Amino acid sequence: MKQILMGNEAIALGLIHSGVDMVSGYPGTPSSEILGNFQKFRDKNSLEAYAQWSTNEKVGFEVAYAGAISGKRTCATMKQVGLNVASDALMSASYIGLKGAMLLVSCDDPGFYSSQTEQDSRSFAKFAKIPVFDPATPQEAYDMVKLGMKLSHDFETIVMLRPVMRVSHAREICDVDESLHVKANEGGFERNIPRWGAVPPAGRFRQGLEQIERLEALKMWNWDHLIKPKTHALKGENILCLTSGTGDGYVKEAIEELEINADILKLDMPYPLPKEKLEALFENYNKIIIFEESYPCIEEQLSSPKLYGKLTKHLHLIDEFSKDKVLDALVKTGVMKATSAYKSEKYTEELPKRPPNMCPGCPHRDVHFAITKVFKKKKSIYTSDIGCYTLGLNQAAIDTILCMGASISMASGFSISDPDKTVIATIGDSTFLHSGVAPLINAIYQNHRFVLVILDNSTTAMTGRQTTPERSNPAQIDIKRIVEGCGVHCHEYVYEPHLERTVDFIKSLQEAYKNATAPVVAVIREFCVLDKENVPSYVGSIAVEIDADKCVACDACLTNYKCPPLHYNEAGKMEIDPFLCAECGSCLEVICPTGAFVKKEEA
Ligand code: SF4
Ligand code: SF4
Repeated sequence: MKQILMGNEAIALGLIHSGVDMVSGYPGTPSSEILGNFQKFRDKNSLEAYAQWSTNEKVGFEVAYAGAISGKRTCATMKQVGLNVASDALMSASYIGLKGAMLLVSCDDPGFYSSQTEQDSRSFAKFAKIPVFDPATPQEAYDMVKLGMKLSHDFETIVMLRPVMRVSHAREICDVDESLHVKANEGGFERNIPRWGAVPPAGRFRQGLEQIERLEALKMWNWDHLIKPKTHALKGENILCLTSGTGDGYVKEAIEELEINADILKLDMPYPLPKEKLEALFENYNKIIIFEESYPCIEEQLSSPKLYGKLTKHLHLIDEFSKDKVLDALVKTGVMKATSAYKSEKYTEELPKRPPNMCPGCPHRDVHFAITKVFKKKKSIYTSDIGCYTLGLNQAAIDTILCMGASISMASGFSISDPDKTVIATIGDSTFLHSGVAPLINAIYQNHRFVLVILDNSTTAMTGRQTTPERSNPAQIDIKRIVEGCGVHCHEYVYEPHLERTVDFIKSLQEAYKNATAPVVAVIREFCVLDKENVPSYVGSIAVEIDADKCVACDACLTNYKCPPLHYNEAGKMEIDPFLCAECGSCLEVICPTGAFVKKEEA
């Protein structure tokens, strides 16, 4: 049956059609839609499969892995930087193997559209010694989920699927097999201490040898089932293009358009590769060019003086694929001559560049404003974290961003390295529960002195408002109680769109900091303006406009507050775009030195 599916929907449906029993994930672009769609398809088909949003990727991975060693078919979903968090568990699980089946879906983000790094999960699979599939389209993602599940079961290994953003978020008419609802596994955990509880050195050494044997068998499986059947179509002359994932489409388009005499061989499973078999194929060609995104994962597994790729610097070393980049590589490798005719239009140059910004009416904006107003820039360091509030960068309210939870550990570090400055860390509720508790315990235990502001909107807002533990179970999981359980008082403020009050609250933290010998911690109870059910009723009721007579075009509101509706009109006066304005009223206080923001009826 044919269905229009987004890549992440195709993955979710592939999981359903593979009879997956358990799925566990942590949201992160571009992977976030997989788990939500899995729940949707499961409910639609009245299936009993288990699905959960985990507190972080490592927890999610371990929940799914326990299912897989109990004989279940399971899946853990995450984005590529989440894989870093789960990697400790992955590296060990790769030695031990499993009994049921487990697919690890790690979605990559070449081009850094929504990530702090561009890393290539295929290289991580190589590092962890597990097979990896690299789909080029949603259809392939659907097919590879099912194939990956089977491979995982047959070889008792975790299998990775790594779709890139252009696969996860692309839409395609896909062929799906609706009849294929595999019945969930019945099995359960069977005690086998030498396997599941293997300890170093002897136990893990033995498993390491098994892992090497498994990889050799997987290389041959890759050759027999995926590569060899495609070799019959190769002409075997001049140039061979080895492709993987989305690069394949760009290469095919360029080769066809330019009528270049070249063969294309797509490697669906870029690791582990049957090196000798592939290198034997190279004898029929003058040049072998490897098109892969983002790291030289394939290239590192092969050797030949005829190879051209990222290691030889004939292909781009950063950023996602485009047809331009394929053409560039064909020029650099001497396959074609450089001509202006083959430069595709650069649409990006025609568009105005705008940095991402927080939504109109977002409480984070007020908190960042208040922090920079109270803790002056010259005497402060602002550490922050991963989430919507990261966009406080626009307000010059953030100095550092590293990774999940680092706002707190780095505040610890700065409190030692720069004791004359006040460090103010900001972190969201989901990030705090993901990776913030351990650094807070460290800071309290080591008596580090800084201010920590936890911005609690009780949702994972940036990735689509997935539920957080507090929202699901407010009676048991409360950030204030967690902080106090760690041993320090937790100041609390319920956000209101009154900047003066928010500034006063931050001033109270400044006072507390003066005599503090440990972190000063506060939780600010906010909301997400997109979370319609939880937005207070005053949002949408306080219309504001600028009194043109009072506006002196000083730019203070734009520079320090950055609410998206603010712009200069043709007369050179500030104006509020009513179409963008959330009518929250926050800007009525403090931000304008001349008091030009007024309620609409007062103007
Ligand atoms: S802060 Fe006030 S005076 Fe300055 S540009 Fe904005 S509205 Fe005009
Ligand atoms: S009322 Fe002011 S702060 Fe609120 S969305 Fe409109 S411009 Fe922004």
